[in-house]
Amino acid sequence: MVSFEEARNIILSSVAVVGAERIHLLDAAGRVLAEDMAAPWDMPLWDNSAMDGYAVNSADCGVAPCKLRVSAFLPAGAHAEGVRVEQGCAVRIMTGAPTPGGCDAVVPVEETGNGDLEITLREPVRKGQHIRFRGEDVAYGVAFARAGAIIRPPEVNMLASFGMALAPVYRRPFVAILSTGDELVELGTTPGPGEIVNSNALSLATAVREAGAVPLIVGIARDTRASHMERLQEGLKADVLITSAGVSAGDRDLVRDVLEELGARQLFWKVGIKPGGPTAFALHGTTPVFSLPGNPVSTLITFEEFVRPALLKMQGHRRVLRPLFKVVLREELRKKPGKVQIVRIRLERGDGRWYAASAGNQQTAILRTMVDAEAVAVLPADSTCFAAGDEVDAHFYGNHIDLLEATP
Ligand code: AMP
Ligand code: MG
Repeated sequence: MVSFEEARNIILSSVAVVGAERIHLLDAAGRVLAEDMAAPWDMPLWDNSAMDGYAVNSADCGVAPCKLRVSAFLPAGAHAEGVRVEQGCAVRIMTGAPTPGGCDAVVPVEETGNGDLEITLREPVRKGQHIRFRGEDVAYGVAFARAGAIIRPPEVNMLASFGMALAPVYRRPFVAILSTGDELVELGTTPGPGEIVNSNALSLATAVREAGAVPLIVGIARDTRASHMERLQEGLKADVLITSAGVSAGDRDLVRDVLEELGARQLFWKVGIKPGGPTAFALHGTTPVFSLPGNPVSTLITFEEFVRPALLKMQGHRRVLRPLFKVVLREELRKKPGKVQIVRIRLERGDGRWYAASAGNQQTAILRTMVDAEAVAVLPADSTCFAAGDEVDAHFYGNHIDLLEATP
């Protein structure tokens, strides 16, 4: 058995980015930049006005109030060539318009007593005021976003501002999802006696998609070597293979055996985590193979703790583990020593702290508690009991946590 931390280290040191591609900006949200992006020109490209007002020469308006004659008009989109601020004059200018020659300051319209032909400035003018200078946002050649940055609306705006319609991003890995077991029927079929729906394929596909990767459901391997052989070979064509069930110590648990026969190198089997102990991890060539236990709760928790970080790393993310924060326990918790325990919890905010209550029955077979959980507490392997009021580490569960309602 490897520890929870060893398992993560082995996994994360076994996976790497799967390559890059160029995609349209509108499809790039949430993807990770694969290259440093340097400004192909100064932004802004010319000095321009930050306000609707008047372009002036500050030397003309050292003493307030002063009167200036309005000699020209520069709306946004206008060219400033041939327009000058002559002595005793001001040029009417709109936000974003290039500042004319002879101008070293802009006076907002609100600070003028304005007529059409003549204006009065009520305040002295500071040189440089309300001008956006060439290159002051990003200068030519400077990196405005680095490889590893997540593309959000601001990054999209930068790329678009520089005329870049395509963004170089790391590719999304294709993730084969293989279920195993004679008891499984496909969604849409009513289960007969002893049968259950292959629900793990759907929850894993959803989790894979939430992690930014592309799920490929490759069906069900029946509990025979031949069926496992055939389906595992199919699954190994993807960038990543996830199997569910058939990885415990039962005599029908064939996944690890057949993977080995197919040339996969097992890096660990059995992890100090509860739920999810029987998890195995192997490499087939460079293809990572995660063999997760079949219990839907174990499957999702081991996905969350082990597979998701790997999929994020493969897409170029640098922070691949959810941030931990402290929660105050509402009730006492007991566990056996030796394994990290993942406890499904609900959260409540009070006096600046998070309070955690159990989300329900913590048995592995109770999926309902997973549905009710907003977060999980991560209890260290060597710990045994916690009193109400103790603080433990926790992390949010799921991608939409900021949209969840507070616990009533
Ligand atoms: P196993 O690892 O094969 O012993 O399976 C452990 C438990 O998970 C059993 O109760 C299975 O019925 C259940 N299980 C296995 N595969 C799936 C699946 N694809 N969807 C939902 N439950 C499953
Ligand atoms: Mg089975």
